[in-house]
Amino acid sequence: MDACEGVWRRLVDERRLPREDWCLLIAHAGPELKEEARALACAIARERFGKAVWYRGIVEFTNICRNDCLYCGLRRSNRSLRRYRLTHEEIVAACAGGHAAGMRTFVLQGGEDPALSDAWLTELLSELRTRFPDSAVTLSIGERSRESYERLFMAGASRYLLRHETADPTHYAHLHPPSQRFSRRMACLRDLREIGYQTGCGMMTGSPGQGAEQLACDMVFIQDFRPHMIGIGPFLPHHATPFAQERPGDAETTLFLLSLCRIVLPEVLLPATTALRTLLPDGCARGVLAGCNVVMPNITPETERPAYMLYDGKPVSGGVRETLANVDAELSRIGCGLVSGRGDHPLMKHEEGVRASRPADAARAGSLKSETALVAARAATRTVLAEGRPAGASALAERPYADRQQS
Ligand code: SF4
Repeated sequence: MDACEGVWRRLVDERRLPREDWCLLIAHAGPELKEEARALACAIARERFGKAVWYRGIVEFTNICRNDCLYCGLRRSNRSLRRYRLTHEEIVAACAGGHAAGMRTFVLQGGEDPALSDAWLTELLSELRTRFPDSAVTLSIGERSRESYERLFMAGASRYLLRHETADPTHYAHLHPPSQRFSRRMACLRDLREIGYQTGCGMMTGSPGQGAEQLACDMVFIQDFRPHMIGIGPFLPHHATPFAQERPGDAETTLFLLSLCRIVLPEVLLPATTALRTLLPDGCARGVLAGCNVVMPNITPETERPAYMLYDGKPVSGGVRETLANVDAELSRIGCGLVSGRGDHPLMKHEEGVRASRPADAARAGSLKSETALVAARAATRTVLAEGRPAGASALAERPYADRQQS
């Protein structure tokens, strides 16, 4: 048995590795071992979630950003980009379209737009909760103060995506200007988790300066932090960034990392990202075969999508129903299918009624120091320390997308 094979066996047995072993595995795994990892990850996902793939609607509601990440087309130094911010009405209308198509999670994603005050956001969250009480709201709007995260949680956001981008501080400094600090990113992730959000992290594969050592740091971070969601996609360059001439990441590494994440965290929510699907025409199916169990179609108004160009080649067209039908057809070819539902992390059980009114009202009224309100909101996000098989697709009142279209 060679060293790589020995490390692989250890991973299968223990579901975690020390950093140097991750490094060896990522650097030296050959095609056979990668196929073994893919097959195991796929089997774990099927055992936990059946053949169901949850779908969420992403609303890219602002492309205004105060940050200057070197890899991102929305960076503030990109003066050629037309900037926009959707109104509350436009966001609610986009979610209504997704809701009619069966979506029960809305991911509100945007740059770090200075105009996103807590008041603006809590009012929006309140409106979404009123209009779509059966749906979850995920925020993905970057770094904020702990107090702000608490206010938004109390107002009804139950999930938060904040990619860590890299768990290697030196690499982080290579991808970001000095004003954006690695320690701050990590502190935000800890805050989110402590407050009670279902918390997502993630990184690009193949970003400039990244090698097996950096990805090994990512895997150690992931196995220790134990996020509820992980977004992994290939680095794809944008023409108006300092990384315009860098080589894109590759699909093979991305798929391998997705499989490793599924093996380490069997219950994690793992999307087949848009970036992966940009690189591979059948990226959705390939992602699911590597262990993914989520897709996130874009429900942003089509007029604005060209201005949310994180990287070159990001798809901009496609109505909600057309996109879902295409994805469902792609998944049906591998024996899977889209399923409507909130799709919470299996170990988190939400009792939405508990925080339906008081915490949100408290947040709006500004009684934000109220520990009582925060405790109530946390109680609504009760962690069920379930052993063994969690509530899977069949137990969560979900409906297959195809059935929904026939009824
Ligand atoms: S990655 Fe996010 S924070 Fe960084 S420039 Fe792009 S939108 Fe802004």
